[in-house]
Amino acid sequence: MPILAYHMVEPRFDLSVTRVKPPQFRRQIERALTAGYHFVTLGAYLASPSRDEKRVALTFDDGYDSVYDHAWPVLRALDIRATVFVVTHFMGKMDDWDVNFGNIRFRHMDVTRIQALHDAGWEIGSHTCSHFDLTRLSPQGRREELVLSKQELEAWLHAPVRYISYPFGNTNAAVIADCRAAGYQGGVVMGRSQVTLEASYALKRTGVYLFDFPWLFSQKLLAKYEKMFNLIQRGIDICSDGTVLVRQGIGKPIK
Ligand SMILES: [Zn+2]
Repeated sequence: MPILAYHMVEPRFDLSVTRVKPPQFRRQIERALTAGYHFVTLGAYLASPSRDEKRVALTFDDGYDSVYDHAWPVLRALDIRATVFVVTHFMGKMDDWDVNFGNIRFRHMDVTRIQALHDAGWEIGSHTCSHFDLTRLSPQGRREELVLSKQELEAWLHAPVRYISYPFGNTNAAVIADCRAAGYQGGVVMGRSQVTLEASYALKRTGVYLFDFPWLFSQKLLAKYEKMFNLIQRGIDICSDGTVLVRQGIGKPIK
């Protein structure tokens, strides 16, 4: 049973493949519903372990405006709620944490928009404060990113924040220990297997990207060809890791 991970649902051109176009997003969701799948938040997905193989958790990373502008209208009309992982220090700001390949910047949702989604039944999770790779931070920097982002979101939403999406999908045993200490109940990674890590803090997701044409998308829902998807996913993760090397310097803790 898959957990899907989207990033941007964005009509503007960008060299990044971590976006889908709005009509593409609508088609994917509608086709999945027609095929009998139904979508829930990550919390709902984990709360009721079900044998229902057509239940899919729908998640969005980074909290871009395009989720509010282009994904929410589609989902609202279909009575679907999802989980969005927010980078708290970039709310209402441009995505300066990311390397700019396409000479175009994307804005993150501000507090009002996050609150509107929460009021509509969406689940809000943490994607840290600054989108640093947690595995490259000092223990103190790592804890600050985890604790502060959770506290900020809970103060804005007046609700518990239970889940973390690790920036760049990177985590390890030390990060997970700090997540647990900070009060997170679970964490999500991207589609690489990390069998040595505690399962509920390394929940595997399947990324949906620009090149996911209908056939490929349906195969992801069916969780077929898992090895091939993991390989593609790893390639995308390596590109993301390239981003972090540029931003954070190779191998040295930055906080
Ligand atoms: Zn991210």
